Amino acid sequence: MQIEIEKLKALLSPDKKYLIVSHKSPDGDAVGSAVGWFHFLKTFSKHVQIVLPDPPSDSLSSFLMGSDCCFFNVSPIPSKEYFSQAEVLFCLDFNGPSRVGSEMESSIKDFKGVSCMIDHHPEPESFTNVSISDVQNSSTCQLLFECIQEMGMGDRISVDCAKALYLGIMTDTGSFRFPSVTAKTHLALAFLLEKGLRASDVHEQLYDNNRLDQLKLRGYATYEKIAMHSKYPLGLITLSKAELDRFNYQPGDTDGLVNAILSIKGIKMAILLQEKSDGVKISFRSKGEIEINQFAKKHFNGGGHKYASGGISYDSMQETVRKINNHIAEVFA
Ligand code: 5GP
Ligand code: MN
Repeated sequence: MQIEIEKLKALLSPDKKYLIVSHKSPDGDAVGSAVGWFHFLKTFSKHVQIVLPDPPSDSLSSFLMGSDCCFFNVSPIPSKEYFSQAEVLFCLDFNGPSRVGSEMESSIKDFKGVSCMIDHHPEPESFTNVSISDVQNSSTCQLLFECIQEMGMGDRISVDCAKALYLGIMTDTGSFRFPSVTAKTHLALAFLLEKGLRASDVHEQLYDNNRLDQLKLRGYATYEKIAMHSKYPLGLITLSKAELDRFNYQPGDTDGLVNAILSIKGIKMAILLQEKSDGVKISFRSKGEIEINQFAKKHFNGGGHKYASGGISYDSMQETVRKINNHIAEVFA
């Protein structure tokens, strides 16, 4: 780790052209790490750009204000230009090129400059020159904070940088409640708070910006759609395209919905299936001794963390649920 930190430090110099990227369907840690690192790199260079594969939800998009960011699927030509001009590429909060989606993947693979991954997902692929991986870490934002501290550069963390890093730690820890939270997480948060950010503003900006339709969709899903497994402590929600359309679904509307299932007493595993244009998107969550990333990887082209994973199915919703039922015994074995 120390050697990689030295390599990271060597990448930081005045006026380099930096490009920051993160994963498809950006979550709070993806946005927070990109924006936090943007502000940190800005203390070295004028030339810092973020390119995300696609836009995050509206409320997360509000955290991109004040940084320079574009979306590959919206503006592919300028995005490719940033890839060709950048000298250093930072890949944050993802562990392999495929996680940015098929449109952007080749830009990462063919990047000509120096690349650096900073991430906390298990089983990182070797696709960058510098690789900082800490799978125990609560979030990429906490890891970035620790890297900055290791380099002795905490004074370069501005209030904007601190706010972004706080966002990623907050979202990836379910507001500081998951087992990944340690004393180091709270020490990081304390340092960030001392930079002057208002924690309550971050929570409000993210969580108190719901649309009425979004709230109704979540209400409908929890009231009408939770199916409890007859044998295992498992709850499952399916949402068809028609159901999502009925509530005028927007990206991010169902973020965290899967956790509602896990809040039921005794439940150890939760699954949310959503019918999207490119297949059935599956979210897996679990707790305690139940781990679900290998299941997501083996059966649903996915993966992720032990307790929070995702995947995709190209079968119908009905067939996907049947497949889950056919294999679920593996998880509870
Ligand atoms: P979510 O259910 O919120 O979409 O995803 C939860 C976590 O699962 C993400 O943070 C990410 O680590 C992982 N994940 C989601 N989709 C995929 C996927 O298609 N492939 C892999 N490898 N991981 C995924
Ligand atoms: Mn993360």
